[in-house]
Amino acid sequence: MNHSSPTEPIYDVAIIGAGFSGVSAAYHLARRTEECNAPLSCLVFEPREQIGAGVAYQTKTPVHLLNVPAGRMSLDEGDPQSFLRWLTKNGHTYSEEDFVPRPLYQAYLSDIFSELEQISPQTALKVVQEYASALEFDGDLFQLRSAAGLSYQARNIILAVGNSPQSDGLDRDEALKSPWDQAAIASSASHSAVAIIGSGLSAVDTILALEAAAFTGHYTLISRRGLLPQPHGTHGHPDTTTQAAADRVIAKPTVREMLRELRSSIGQGLAWRDLIDALRPSTQKIWNRLPARNKRSFIRHLRPFWDSHRHRVPVESLSVLLKLKELGRLTSMKGRVTSHTASKDGVTLKVESRGRASVARFDSVFDCRGLWTDLRASRCPLLDSIIRNGTAHYDELALGLRTDRIGRLLSARGAPLAIYTLGSLRRGELWETTAVREIRSQARLIAESILPEPQPQKCIGNG
Ligand SMILES: Cc1cc2nc3c(=O)[nH]c(=O)nc-3n(C[C@H](O)[C@H](O)[C@H](O)COP(=O)(O)OP(=O)(O)OC[C@H]3O[C@@H](n4cnc5c(N)ncnc54)[C@H](O)[C@@H]3O)c2cc1C
Repeated sequence: MNHSSPTEPIYDVAIIGAGFSGVSAAYHLARRTEECNAPLSCLVFEPREQIGAGVAYQTKTPVHLLNVPAGRMSLDEGDPQSFLRWLTKNGHTYSEEDFVPRPLYQAYLSDIFSELEQISPQTALKVVQEYASALEFDGDLFQLRSAAGLSYQARNIILAVGNSPQSDGLDRDEALKSPWDQAAIASSASHSAVAIIGSGLSAVDTILALEAAAFTGHYTLISRRGLLPQPHGTHGHPDTTTQAAADRVIAKPTVREMLRELRSSIGQGLAWRDLIDALRPSTQKIWNRLPARNKRSFIRHLRPFWDSHRHRVPVESLSVLLKLKELGRLTSMKGRVTSHTASKDGVTLKVESRGRASVARFDSVFDCRGLWTDLRASRCPLLDSIIRNGTAHYDELALGLRTDRIGRLLSARGAPLAIYTLGSLRRGELWETTAVREIRSQARLIAESILPEPQPQKCIGNG
């Protein structure tokens, strides 16, 4: 790989991706430059026009709400009012319990990012509006290449490629539409039969977007278990009885025993939402101690149940779906889509369930299956490059990459590198790693590792 052009400096850090993870990393680095009184130059690669959009916050549809109340969505856990303050400053009246439209969250992230250099004058940021497509280490510095073939050098790398590292502009099957494709929503609004593969949060988003686009036809939701996300209840902190029940669940050695304990506590009248919330701080610890075969079996058999209870939606979002069901405009179909064929009349899906196959035709089909379950299938040139040159290694489930506690990639011998990652690429090792709450603390740890606290000066001499 070429060295960077003579006009390009060597950057202290290169952040790849500016969705929530990338913005969070930049924010915590900037804060850290102030704490440590140390200058920092930072290069940010992001092909999208908007900073902070990513998969989650790219939507322009105001009916797409955050699924976490505003009071828990601050970029900085040390400053929990930050998002609420931004809302008020920008003329929006929301309380900390409200579920705010996601486009506002993108605007918040973008505003914070654009103010970083003023708030932290020691930070110098440069954004390259391109994909980073290759990364190599020459023993001294990291050499990065952009999709346009330009080269850059950095001392540290933060991989913040997020939920769709395969979205690199390469070939994609046109027949299965993306839930985030505004044009696909607009063109499907006049259709009469829409199928949605998956029944989680993205499926809910697709239906809300189609309803907002005045779709009047019929939805078929196809998923293995037919489970919709559960609605949020009132938000409180789990009481001591609930926490004690959660601790009993955590103490069980196997998933089967944990489930039995969970069911028994719910059977005794404890609120399931509070129990799940009480388990949440320990889910990474539980995940870590499970052997790989149990993790695989959890993903295969229990994940749909966990996801529908853990990733809840605002009541107002779910009530739209329940109303559609009542009107007969939404039906669920249990099964797995095994093939699809596009023709001028639409898309024909083959769905298998319990050994039986059925075939159905739809005007359009949205693919809402969510995050990948095997990173090896991703077609991201950047990840390919670091896997091929032996810099990065898949975790044991190939859900993400092997990292240490701080999120540093590990070499083949297990030595930490100056390449950090956060969010989805740590799923294999942490499982719960995609929400704001987890990512912002990972970003803080990374910033503290890149800019460690200055050591107090030792006195030289007799004293
Ligand atoms: C629909 C949805 C709603 C959600 N709502 C909430 C919520 O309400 N509360 C909550 O806590 N969590 C929520 N989440 C969780 C969410 O995943 C995280 O909050 C967060 O958005 C993840 O951000 P990310 O930056 O890791 O990934 P992404 O959002 O996927 O962003 C990654 C970015 O990297 C860029 N990129 C990718 N590859 C490259 C490359 N090679 N070079 C340069 N750039 C690249 C992409 O263009 C993208 O902008 C939601 C998730 C989804 C999908």
